Amino acid sequence: MKQRPLRIGFDLDGVLLYNPARIVRPLVVFFKKIFIPKEQNKFHLPKTKIEEIIWLFLHKSSFMITPGYDEIKKLVSEKKIEAYIISGRYDSLKEDFYHWINKLDATKYFSGLHYNSGNEQPHIYKERMIKKLKLDIFVEDNWDIVSHLANDGKLRDGNCKVFWIYNIFDRGIPYRYKFPHLKKIIDFIQSMI
Ligand SMILES: [Mg+2]
Repeated sequence: MKQRPLRIGFDLDGVLLYNPARIVRPLVVFFKKIFIPKEQNKFHLPKTKIEEIIWLFLHKSSFMITPGYDEIKKLVSEKKIEAYIISGRYDSLKEDFYHWINKLDATKYFSGLHYNSGNEQPHIYKERMIKKLKLDIFVEDNWDIVSHLANDGKLRDGNCKVFWIYNIFDRGIPYRYKFPHLKKIIDFIQSMI
C-alpha cells in the first residue's frame, strides 16, 4: 500500500536558517524572569519603529541556509514528504521573509509558505496553522513554543509530533523528540518512511 507523503512543517529561523542569535534566547528568558515576572509566558511584539529596527537586526543575523536543506528538497522531489514553512515572524519582517523564500528557492519545493502576518502570539499562531494544515510533524527550535505545542496535549487529536532542535543551553531539558540539528531530523524522518 502506498503511503501518503508525510506533511511536515518547518519553522524558518533556527531550523531552515542557521541563526546564531538563537542562543541568546535562554538569557532573554532569564532576564525576563528577574525583571518582568508577568511577561514570562508572553512573546514580545515590537511596537515602536526603533523596536522594529532592533527586531529586524536580530533576524538579519539569520544568514545561512542550514545543512540538511538539500535533503528536504530531495525528499519533496521524491514525493516522500509534503513540506510547509510556518514562521512566527511578524508582518514587519515580511520583506525579509520573502527575501529568504527567494534564496531558498522555496516556492519550487514547499506546498505552503506562511508567516505570522496578523502579528498573533507566535505559539498561538503556530498551533493554529499546524491544525489547519493537518501536519504530521512540525520542526521547531524554540523550546517555549515546543513546550506549548507538545506538553498540554494540544495537538493530540491531530497526532502531530513536534520535533525540537535544541541549543547548548537548553540541551538538558528532557523531551522525547529532541535533536541537535536539522540533519539528525532528516535521518529520523528517513527512518520513518
Ligand atoms: Mg525559530
